Amino acid sequence: MAFDIDEYLVKPGDKVDLSGIDTRSTPFWDPDDKEEGKAHLPDLQQRMESLQELLWAEGRNRVLVVLQAMDAGGKDGTIRHVFEGVNPSGVRVAAFKRPSEKELSHDYLWRVHQEVPGDGELVVFNRSHYEDVLVVRVEELVDEERWRRRFRHIVEFERMLADEGTTIVKIYLHISKDEQKERLQARLDEPNKNWKFETGDLVPRAKWKQYQQAFEDVLSETSTEFAPWYVIPADRKWYRNLAVSEILIQTLDGLDMAYPPPEEGLDQVVID
Ligand code: ATP
Ligand code: MG
Repeated sequence: MAFDIDEYLVKPGDKVDLSGIDTRSTPFWDPDDKEEGKAHLPDLQQRMESLQELLWAEGRNRVLVVLQAMDAGGKDGTIRHVFEGVNPSGVRVAAFKRPSEKELSHDYLWRVHQEVPGDGELVVFNRSHYEDVLVVRVEELVDEERWRRRFRHIVEFERMLADEGTTIVKIYLHISKDEQKERLQARLDEPNKNWKFETGDLVPRAKWKQYQQAFEDVLSETSTEFAPWYVIPADRKWYRNLAVSEILIQTLDGLDMAYPPPEEGLDQVVID
């Protein structure tokens, strides 16, 4: 599969219209070949594993992956599938829930900055500082003047991280309202999924249009050369896993990493 990740890239300055992006499309795979698609994932997981090992061994780059989606958009499933088999020492997931009182008593980037990756690390943000211009905007938790300013802060915050050596990739998992209904329904119907169901998730669902608008603004205002957004059609989970894997693999590949040179004279070493 020649997978052109630029297909999903939001070019800086582009105005994104999410209603024009098909959530079921699979441009780099025949949708009838779902089983072959699923069977291809282990190859990508292995590539991911070796690239991540190199990242960790080299200890020079820092990689931040931001994942955003509507509820049941597949953030958890993506993380489970794409990172299966990576070395847990070098990979961390930071989930951003409703802020605590202490977090709320600081600026909104305070809790976020503490979780960014260090040398050799790959960190996945499961939700992120973008909640502060998404849920916070739609639920009117702060006034418009305040959340609008945040686009600028966020771009500058990410620019600083990038300038200081962090590679940033941001992924929006794009699902349809119908697909969300099916997934939420499955959480109700299947006893072992009940724990995932929250009646609270129905609130953002009822404001679907407003959330899509908020996502469109996020994607249009904050996709930059140094911290690009990718919009992934995510109704088909198997395709989503392939697409996200490809984006991360190609990004890591672009870092031109190498194992650190061995100590001198290793060939003389005798272990008795
Ligand atoms: P799942 O998809 O498994 O339910 P989740 O990411 O929805 O996982 P939850 O604990 O259910 O995790 O939800 C986190 C909630 O916290 C979301 O509703 C999100 O909008 C909210 N949240 C995150 N950051 C903020 C923020 N800065 N201000 C207000 N709410 C926030
Ligand atoms: Mg939830």
